[in-house]
Amino acid sequence: MIFMSSKTSDGNMMIPSNRSKFFKKLEINPKSVAEVKQVRGNKIVYVDKPLDPLTEADGLIANNKNLFLIVKVADCMPIALYDKKHEVIALLHVGYKGLRNSAIKNALDKMRETFGTRPKNITVNIGPSIGPCHYRMDIWKEAENQLIRSGVVKEKIENPRICTYESKDYFSHRKSGDEGSKDDPRFITILGLI
Ligand SMILES: [Zn+2]
Repeated sequence: MIFMSSKTSDGNMMIPSNRSKFFKKLEINPKSVAEVKQVRGNKIVYVDKPLDPLTEADGLIANNKNLFLIVKVADCMPIALYDKKHEVIALLHVGYKGLRNSAIKNALDKMRETFGTRPKNITVNIGPSIGPCHYRMDIWKEAENQLIRSGVVKEKIENPRICTYESKDYFSHRKSGDEGSKDDPRFITILGLI
């Protein structure tokens, strides 16, 4: 399983040339990447090949070794779910709206319905996202609580608690706004079975 995020030094991932350079660095074929148009909703889609990037959703589920899932991030949480037993992955883009609208539960339900995934077998990785130090809500804690309530084992939730606002390595939508920047760049988080 590969789970990682691009850094500010890789540039704004909304710019195609920066993306190509980044994929090249990781030796990832850009044609084996699946992404969706994120709409801060709670829809999770199963993918077995790259799909129309205008498909509106906020999470992807896959069990195909030749496919890399990506989400675009700048403060919301990239959440990776991994069911080693069934070799199934899910990558979610979750902010407070997604938390309120059960995006996490939807992903767990879909993994169970499609592959028989049991929450207790899932390993979770939460990527860089805005922390309670810079946001009125503690989205980390809320996500962890929702996962645990759904049956995920606490010890299997990995959250290094990297705040995007504080870290110079990641873009932050709020920080860009506070700094009056015209740009609102994104980094990407990648999840793939290898
Ligand atoms: Zn912070």
